Amino acid sequence: MPVGTQGTVKAVPQQLLEDLDVRILLGNTYHLYLRPGHEAIRRLGGLHRFMSWERAILTDSGGFQVFSLSDLRKVTDEGVSFRSHIDGSSHFFSPEHSMEVQIALGSDIAMAFDECTEYPADRARARASLDVTLKWAQRSRDHFEAHKHERPWGERTLEQRTADSGQRSEHQAEKAAVNAEGRTPNLFGIVQGGMFADLRRESAERLVEMDFPGYAIGGLSVGEPRELTREMIATTLPLLPAEKPRYVMGVGYPDEIAEYARMGVDMMDCVLPTRAARHGLLFTSEGRLNIRNRQYAEDQGPADPACNCMVCRRYSRAYLRHLMAAQEPLAAVLNTLHNLAFYLETMRKVREELAEKPVQPQSGS
Ligand SMILES: [Zn+2]
Repeated sequence: MPVGTQGTVKAVPQQLLEDLDVRILLGNTYHLYLRPGHEAIRRLGGLHRFMSWERAILTDSGGFQVFSLSDLRKVTDEGVSFRSHIDGSSHFFSPEHSMEVQIALGSDIAMAFDECTEYPADRARARASLDVTLKWAQRSRDHFEAHKHERPWGERTLEQRTADSGQRSEHQAEKAAVNAEGRTPNLFGIVQGGMFADLRRESAERLVEMDFPGYAIGGLSVGEPRELTREMIATTLPLLPAEKPRYVMGVGYPDEIAEYARMGVDMMDCVLPTRAARHGLLFTSEGRLNIRNRQYAEDQGPADPACNCMVCRRYSRAYLRHLMAAQEPLAAVLNTLHNLAFYLETMRKVREELAEKPVQPQSGS
């Protein structure tokens, strides 16, 4: 899943995301809550309509950004109070409030409000953090189930939507309404537990008892060695029902996501392909390539000779390097398009491979 933090995958218009065959995007609850505000997005018909994206949207709970971006946060059993990183204003997020915001956004997959345990964290700290997260998971679930039908487009009839759709043709408006109203909102639980296998196990078992339609493994890729990430995924996956989506949050490099998918992970998200692109780092079949390097100044070849994306078919490394050097906005657009194409192609190949040879069940050891 490409990450669309502020209601946009940075530098890429929605039409091009569709051309890349992106099926689902991640939106950040914390950012959208602060700006433009979830109530504004609700009034505008939900995030799908606001950003003109009819395909699926997953929203995070806001917890991760509250913990990583905001100032002066204070965590209690009730929730987290924090100050906005934009203007210093005071806010409070509880599991109930996070659900309310995600429902207002019209998310297809909402995430339970959790505390992302930092790394390193000792056992006592991971234990306390897990206990809070488990309580919040139940409260998230209770609130979500009671309110999930309060969708931003729920109270409006098809006729109203068609009438106030402005320049959109009747056909388009009708299609959008049918798609939107046919959606079923889901809430996923998030496994925490730091880097402790037994805490991860307990977290997974308790969440499975709560019976979520899908499960995420959170609190990984927070600075721990990659071997530990893999170990925590291998420990946790077999405890989560294989017939439901299993999602590892915030990973990773192309070889990592391929590896995790082969282990049985169904969903992943990461800012890496888009963020790295804006810094001139391209992922290719030959490894990572820093397009700013002088060696590409007169290189007429494509970024990745094995890539068939719209960028590699048309532009040279020399041109991409020039755009970066001249700080042209098109540099971010083209680099991001290539990286997303490369990531999506990586996953497409893994899916093909798995279709022929299904995932071996994890033994749990
Ligand atoms: Zn390409």
